[in-house]
Amino acid sequence: TDEHTEVGQVAVALNTLLGHMENALDARHRSEQQVRQFVADASHELRTPLTTIHGYAQLSLRQRDPELYGHAMGKVMVETTRMASLVEDLLLLARLDAGRPLDRRPVDLSRLARDSVTDAQIVAPSHHWELELPPDPIVIIGDEQRLHQVVTNLLTNARRHTPAGTTVTVAAKLADDSAVLTIHDDGPGIPADLLPNVFQRFTRADTARTSTTGGTGLGLSLAQSITHAHNGTLTLSSTPGNTSFTLALPT
Ligand code: ADP
Repeated sequence: TDEHTEVGQVAVALNTLLGHMENALDARHRSEQQVRQFVADASHELRTPLTTIHGYAQLSLRQRDPELYGHAMGKVMVETTRMASLVEDLLLLARLDAGRPLDRRPVDLSRLARDSVTDAQIVAPSHHWELELPPDPIVIIGDEQRLHQVVTNLLTNARRHTPAGTTVTVAAKLADDSAVLTIHDDGPGIPADLLPNVFQRFTRADTARTSTTGGTGLGLSLAQSITHAHNGTLTLSSTPGNTSFTLALPT
């Protein structure tokens, strides 16, 4: 049937994509084992929603009950959206690994912080969002879209992995030869067993929790790859009640 053919086509396209990623990741500094692990993890992550989509496509073929059909298509939408953002993240990681150049221009980090907090406030009004900015703009040379993604990923984490009522503070300042952005939250903190590997790809809290929070486990590794492409650093300290990410970018 058409649905089956299309799901098959998606599977073929994914295989091709994974092949490209394997090539892009085959940089000298990565061991063969790391590449294999990454491709295995990526395949697994993509196969899970694909299996769900396939199941619901099959169900909707057999079942013509409109309510069930609507339910199945709703699930297909959710899973395809999830897959699309996963593929987007994987492609970006592969491009960064391949050393693709950034689109470097002057970026005002204060404005970027303010815009990101405004967005966060709209998405999660049940958290308290605070901004601490100096009066003057903080301008660095960087890729605005990518840096926006770093800040968004960190704010999304601060919202997703903490309960309502958590206070998230975004502060920016100019230090000696770098601009420093810190994102602090007073939530429960990153589980101790996760902490040493949290910047590694696909590291995240248990899958049961993740399915409700919707993460892919790529957010922090992407944030770090983008930061490194800017010759910056992204560091972290986390204890219950005090989680801080510090992004330092050369001025
Ligand atoms: P995910 O897509 O799961 O958010 P990330 O790489 O962005 O993947 O984060 C990895 C894991 O680190 C998360 O699954 C979560 O368990 C933990 N984490 C990240 N940020 C926070 C935070 N601010 N508070 C508590 N836990 C966090």
